[in-house]
Amino acid sequence: MSPAAETTAVLLSAAPDRSEAAARAEQRFVESFGYAPDGVWSAPGRVNIIGEHVDYQDGLCLPMAISHRCFAAAARTPTNRLRLRSAQDELVLDIDARELTPGAVTGWPAYVAGVLWALDPFISGAATRGMDIMIDGQVPLGAGLSSSAALECAAAEAIEALLSLGTTRLERVRAAITAETDFAGASTGGLDQSASVLSHEGHALFLDCRDLSTRPVPWDLASQQLALLITDTRAEHSHVDGEYAARRADSERAAAQLGVPTLRDADVDQLETLLGRLGDEVVRRRARHVLTEIRRVEQFDALLAAGTVREQVGELGALLNASHDSLREDYEVTVPQLDVAVDAARAAGAHGARMTGGGFGGSTIALVEADQAQAVAEAIAAAFGQHGFAAPEFFLALPSEGAGQDR
Ligand code: ADP
Ligand code: MG
Repeated sequence: MSPAAETTAVLLSAAPDRSEAAARAEQRFVESFGYAPDGVWSAPGRVNIIGEHVDYQDGLCLPMAISHRCFAAAARTPTNRLRLRSAQDELVLDIDARELTPGAVTGWPAYVAGVLWALDPFISGAATRGMDIMIDGQVPLGAGLSSSAALECAAAEAIEALLSLGTTRLERVRAAITAETDFAGASTGGLDQSASVLSHEGHALFLDCRDLSTRPVPWDLASQQLALLITDTRAEHSHVDGEYAARRADSERAAAQLGVPTLRDADVDQLETLLGRLGDEVVRRRARHVLTEIRRVEQFDALLAAGTVREQVGELGALLNASHDSLREDYEVTVPQLDVAVDAARAAGAHGARMTGGGFGGSTIALVEADQAQAVAEAIAAAFGQHGFAAPEFFLALPSEGAGQDR
């Protein structure tokens, strides 16, 4: 073994078996609360395959649920106490569920309590709201894989079942979004919760950000010996919020100058003419990213309608690459770690690779042959070593089933 190979041994984290994980969550509930739960529910994290920085311009995106899930073992109690615990955090909550109001709960329990609060319109006034919930999650926290949506959506499934609310999946998506924005006080566009609840195994989710309408798109990696390698670069940028706001403002300026409500409304067939009408060079590049990215999602979708991932893998990979290059050159939301991970993946034989999520740190994805995932990860780790970056973390994901009951 060469010295380089020795130093770059990396661990690929595939999600633990779902039924074993659900059984463990149930066991943790028993150890924590001293009796058996009524059931176990779970919801997955997500990655966005393509369609980045277009949501606030009413664009299109294509997320998929990943194999890593958050589990909620739960039981209804004949009281009004909401008691929450997590295997990943020591903070516990014990509160009168009738007194939930934004600001009343802090830390991670706000994501769960917020869902109960957001579901209030569906709860009969006479019903007791007491419940015990044990959270056990596999989605890495804060890696851009949406552990927060997985947590909210697992909680929504549990609460729906315990209180027999009769909500639709879309109503639970909306409750999870409301919990995050209005109760936990974080901002989210709805992509994460839609993907976590509405995804199907072997499929990506085509999401129209204009009205949150969705449909499944065949994306069966497993049967075609393909895999998605996720690299958490662990890079963080200090001015993310300001940079986001600036990109949003640039794209709004472009829409205003073109006389359309959003860039989604512009006729992308006239791309060069449209861009020619934008005087400012920066605004022109921002618009070019949004307009071409929306078109790339349409092209990606059309390719998957016309053939299998295996048959289309070359062109799909090229679209992933073009998306990243556009985010790097025109939208300028990458950082060196993201670019190095993508370049190393491509050089090591990935069909395509791009940053995923908002940028300025976070994760990349690479579409790879399943039996080459390890080698691609090692190449990325080696490149990080050469650049003096902190070691990245790797996850293997398959398109997974959305939120549901496990036990
Ligand atoms: P991301 O959603 O990308 O992982 P966020 O900052 O949106 O990052 O959400 C992470 C937060 O979600 C954590 O700080 C924590 O409050 C909460 N969270 C997610 N999963 C769990 C869990 N299993 N146990 C406790 N808190 C969790
Ligand atoms: Mg989140």
